[in-house]
Amino acid sequence: MKATLYYRGALSSCNYDCPYCPFSKTTDSKETLAKDKQQLADFMSWVREQQGAGHELSIFFNPYGEALVHSWYREAMTELSHMPHVAKVAIQTNLSVKLDWTEQLARGKAAFWVTYHPGQTKQANFLSQCMKLYEQRIPFSVGSVGIRSAFPAIEELRKLLPEDVYLWVNAFKDQKAYYTEEDIAHLSRIDPLFQLNIPDYNSFGKSCDAGANVFYIQGSGIVKRCYSDRRVIGQLYRDGLEGLSADRPCGMKKCGCYIGYIHMPELKLDEVYGKSLLERIPAGFAR
Ligand code: SF4
Ligand code: SF4
Repeated sequence: MKATLYYRGALSSCNYDCPYCPFSKTTDSKETLAKDKQQLADFMSWVREQQGAGHELSIFFNPYGEALVHSWYREAMTELSHMPHVAKVAIQTNLSVKLDWTEQLARGKAAFWVTYHPGQTKQANFLSQCMKLYEQRIPFSVGSVGIRSAFPAIEELRKLLPEDVYLWVNAFKDQKAYYTEEDIAHLSRIDPLFQLNIPDYNSFGKSCDAGANVFYIQGSGIVKRCYSDRRVIGQLYRDGLEGLSADRPCGMKKCGCYIGYIHMPELKLDEVYGKSLLERIPAGFAR
């Protein structure tokens, strides 16, 4: 089976201090970090075994907080990128970590979803980190939440990044009707696909690959179908991919998050992002 696995372990801490985020400047206890490390080791053992079972995996780490500051995530990404049955490994990161290890990543397999947090890092430092990936020919997308106070910083970053690096803007959805038509036009000049992210798509009863060949794995092995539906559909280490997989119509009213709605076949977003759907790089940008 070709499957996409989102993975999130026990970690819930970050070296940044974003005011709207529950993980800002939190530290995990030694016990939690040890648990997170062990959970990832268990996951890695399971992934290694899947080669014999004939599965092809794409893996996306979406931690609560920042994972790349921990060596076990850097080592896991490197090893996964070299596994023949792993088609892709990607991670959501603030890219604050030293990039002296990324040379070891297998080209064409590893990718980064980089989030820019103006106010947490100097723009020049952030740009220099992005350019290290660019020079190493490691694909990445860069993006930010489109809150009004961040517009100038996002615009400035767009100007400074190479043209073939895709910069996405996530629509701010906590406030209804937040954007004026002028805002939308402005942000669409920065991110030509901004308008795809604005809607909360009607999803109830509709077909979705989440739960069929896309799974959300928690560190313990508990599996849910997606970021939004909290119902547990099984246990990875007990049920395996075949035991988990079933066609299930969406049970949620709306789907408004990129990591979810990209798996709705009716949106045909694989035609926009192709093989770089997970890390959010549209056709025409550096991959
Ligand atoms: S970088 Fe991400 S995880 Fe860390 S505080 Fe900011 S929003 Fe939260
Ligand atoms: S909420 Fe989104 S990702 Fe989850 S099942 Fe529904 S459409 Fe799929």
